[in-house]
Amino acid sequence: MREKLGGWKRSSYCGEVGSAQIGSQVTLMGWVQKRRDHGGLIFIDLRDREGIVQVVFNPEKGAGTHEKAHSLRSEFVIAVKGAIGKRPAGTENPELKTGAIEVYAEELKVLNDSAPLPFMIEEESDVAETTRLKYRYLDLRRLSLQRKIILRHKVSACVRNYLAQHGFLEIETPVLTKSTPEGARDFLVPSRLSPGQFFALPQSPQIFKQILMIAGFDRYYQIVRCFRDEDLRADRQPEFTQIDAEMSFVESDDVISVMEGLISAVFKEGVGIELQPPFPRLTYAEATSRFGVDNPDTRFGLELKDLSSIVAKSGFKVFADVLAKGGVVKAICAKGAAEFSRKDLDDLTEVAVSFGAKGLAWVKLTDEGWQSPIAKFLSDEEKAGIEKTLGAVKGDLLLFAAGKLSTANTVLGRLRLNLGARLRLVPAGTFNFTWVTEFPMFDYDEAEKRHVAVHHPFTAPMDEDIDLIDTAPLKVRAKAYDLVLNGVEIGGGSIRIHTSDVQSLVFDMLGISREDAELRFGFLLEALKYGTPPHGGIAFGLDRIMAIMTASDSIRDVIAFPKTQKATCPMSEAPSTVDMKQLEEIFIRIVKKQAEKE
Ligand code: ASP
Repeated sequence: MREKLGGWKRSSYCGEVGSAQIGSQVTLMGWVQKRRDHGGLIFIDLRDREGIVQVVFNPEKGAGTHEKAHSLRSEFVIAVKGAIGKRPAGTENPELKTGAIEVYAEELKVLNDSAPLPFMIEEESDVAETTRLKYRYLDLRRLSLQRKIILRHKVSACVRNYLAQHGFLEIETPVLTKSTPEGARDFLVPSRLSPGQFFALPQSPQIFKQILMIAGFDRYYQIVRCFRDEDLRADRQPEFTQIDAEMSFVESDDVISVMEGLISAVFKEGVGIELQPPFPRLTYAEATSRFGVDNPDTRFGLELKDLSSIVAKSGFKVFADVLAKGGVVKAICAKGAAEFSRKDLDDLTEVAVSFGAKGLAWVKLTDEGWQSPIAKFLSDEEKAGIEKTLGAVKGDLLLFAAGKLSTANTVLGRLRLNLGARLRLVPAGTFNFTWVTEFPMFDYDEAEKRHVAVHHPFTAPMDEDIDLIDTAPLKVRAKAYDLVLNGVEIGGGSIRIHTSDVQSLVFDMLGISREDAELRFGFLLEALKYGTPPHGGIAFGLDRIMAIMTASDSIRDVIAFPKTQKATCPMSEAPSTVDMKQLEEIFIRIVKKQAEKE
């Protein structure tokens, strides 16, 4: 039995009716969440994207309607006409927005039925994620997911509004394009019309947005899909969305202040929180020195302290050797953690070792004083100096890292995060923003034996460091900035190089030959010659922002159709094989791996 709409018009969403409409007539349409038969009455929880309302079918009302209601099953699609009434005292449901009222059905249309469901549409569910992704349309019917996707829409609308008000133009850039400079692997698309040649899907619109500045558009933005063929880690997707922006005639501070306004608008719209820009700023050097990482979670302390000068003359050989080689000795002090068990310490040691430490030296400050395998190697004076620097008192646990500065920072930075979670130091529901600035321009890739760009090769060096490019490249700082939220990098950008001579200098340093640069980015280099304004910009990860805003465990929760960890879509079964004919047309032949041939 499938009935036609027959001219019925919906009067409101299920989730929107409330006490204000008591006594009025409504026409609602939606899905049957649940049917309960109760003392002759039939109760239906009717659901649409705005919420759930209870509909009551009384055998005495509306000829035949009650009988029809008997046939309803989960996820049938129905239309109901009826009057809104106050629920009898004691039957209200405070969990529901509409919990004070119910709808007394007078007429019912069954618009469609539903096959038996592979799983129930429930919030608490232990159904495997691949099954839920296979039936994503059913999973998406859960109100929690609907809310996240709707909030994402509101945030996008807010971004568009804010940027439009600030003079940004929304301009589309190509999806079929050339390899871009973000340093991940490209997704390639073979060209039928240029046999043997390939497009790359954009890792970002970087080059095009710079060209838009050269073209004179002055302020650009786009909410844009980017593609990176990387091995997926927990919060990555092969395609993801950036809020991408670029501005002309600006310096870092100008970009930062416009973007603080944007982020504030977005958080006001999204979670009703008034942020107070300007956000705190840390230079890369400060961030890594105090928090060990360049994306510091500033919601808690537990900062790293340098003990090198205190143990400079130490009789403890491990420290002395490291310092003699130009390394550092640093430590953190975990308040009240002296009671950690052997197992806790083993776990922490494992973390330290996985980030490059040779082991983990620890000290427990107990009633008996220093309890530690290294206590006997340190003098009383050294111990007192360490306690003072770390602000350590009885009951605390001290953890040390000795080695190269970068390794010591990383190890303690990771231990710090682990301890933050273990000791529950992270306050719930807070949003801590920090800009990290003055990133190094170059890093040295030991495997490839060459310098690589930390951000990308179009990022401008700081003016005062340009002369160091030839002599001390690793000391050159870039006009680059990241925005970090609760320890997650949610955006990053830079002021760009806008003259061909500095661009060539940087390519030389990166070991990108003239020919190679010409081949890969020739069109940008050419464009740079024709009156390029000083410019810079930024890109934010919209998926990450939404995941943090909605306290989701995974970014998959804020993407309507995400991919699995293996970069597949269980619903559409992409990627998939294609016809031989299709392959022939694009001059592609599949070569089987040896193992598959046998
Ligand atoms: N294109 C950069 C990125 O995707 C962002 C930027 O520099 O604006 O990380």
